Parts: sequence; C-alpha cells; structure tokens
Amino acid sequence: YLFGRKKATEVAHVVWEQVIQKGDTVIDATCGNGNDTLAMLKMVMHDSVGCGGYVYAMDIQKDAIESTSSLLDQAVGSKEKECVKLFNLCHSKMGEIVPENARVRMVAFNLGYLPGGNKSIITLSDTTLSALKAAERILKPGGLISLVVYIGHPGGREELEVVEAFGSGLPVSDWICCKFQMLNRPLAPVLVFMFKREN
Ligand code: SAM
Repeated sequence: YLFGRKKATEVAHVVWEQVIQKGDTVIDATCGNGNDTLAMLKMVMHDSVGCGGYVYAMDIQKDAIESTSSLLDQAVGSKEKECVKLFNLCHSKMGEIVPENARVRMVAFNLGYLPGGNKSIITLSDTTLSALKAAERILKPGGLISLVVYIGHPGGREELEVVEAFGSGLPVSDWICCKFQMLNRPLAPVLVFMFKREN
C-alpha cells in the first residue's frame, strides 16, 4: 500500500513485496550501503529452510561492498548472509555473474551516488543503459525491473531520459511500464520506475 510511504525507496519496496516470492533469485544492481539488499534478502529467504533463492548484489565501489557486507553482519546471521553474493562490479556486466539457469525475478537499480560516500562517483547513462539491456535479457516472465532515479545532481536528468526512453521502447505485448512521481514534493527530485515483464 503506497500511501504513508514518504521515501521513494519505500514505495519501491512495497511494489517488490507484491512480486518477489520466497526462494526467488533477485539482483541488486547498485547495492551502496546495503539497505535495498537487506530488504531483498528478507523477501527471498525462507524462514525454515534457509535461502532457497539468492540476492546477487553489486556495486562499482569497493567501499559500498564493504558497507553492504557490514550492514548484513549487523542485521542477519552468517547462514542468511550466505544467501547474498556480493560483487565489486559494474552492473553492465551482471550477465557474467548470474548463473545461466537462474530465473531472475527482479533487477533493482537505485541510481546516483553513494549516500555518505564520494558524490563524484555516480551511475552514468551509458552503463545504466547497458545494464538495463542485460536485465531485460536475464529477467524471467513475471519479473520486474525497478528503478529509483534521482535528478538533482549533474547528469541526473540525462540518465532519467535514458531510463524513460528504455521503458517506453519495451514492447507493449510483453511489458507493463510505469512511472511514479511525487508531484507535491518538488524538493525531493526522485522518481520510481517499474517495468514488469508479463511474457
Ligand atoms: N541501494 C543502495 C542502498 O540501499 O544503500 C543505494 C545505492 S546509491 C544511491 C548508488 C550506488 O550506485 C552507489 O553506491 C554507486 O557506487 C553505485 N554505482 C555507480 N555506478 C555503478 C555501476 N556502473 N555499477 C554498479 N554500481 C554503480
């Protein structure tokens, strides 16, 4: 339920909960400080039989991988942590690390820079587009590409245009593509996109 959720990431998580099932395999394409990775882990993990599915989490910055790893250490036990596979990697290469037979239910992006980190290291339109194409290839029918896009920093608007053009170009026979924007929060220039693969 979307109302009552003020942060864009919370809106995204509400949608994830409707799509992700226990035992699914999902990808966090920008793990940053690990908040989204942790949310995904809780959604895929079976309470009794362990992982079932996996979270493949990646980030281009080593600091982010360490930050995600330490958040998981604080939040879950070592057995649960084994259900997360961390990679210091550009998300355009996600197809190289996910096993070919993995039926991926979701690929999530939270674009921009690492909060509390180096603000000059940001996601870039070209690699974001390559990563979206990789996500399209590996996502199973019924799966979701989720994006939280910030437009307040240099390059943000250009990246927004790339994301919008990608979603607009997906075939209507197989995809439902939506955009959420909080119209009365002009100081929070952030949008949420959901591209759901039907077939
Ligand atoms: N999801 C994170 C969380 O819950 O804390 C926040 C992600 S932060 C807004 C964006 C992240 O994208 C940064 O950590 C940044 O290093 C990462 N990033 C930038 N370019 C990337 C790329 N080409 N591949 C993977 N990650 C990238």
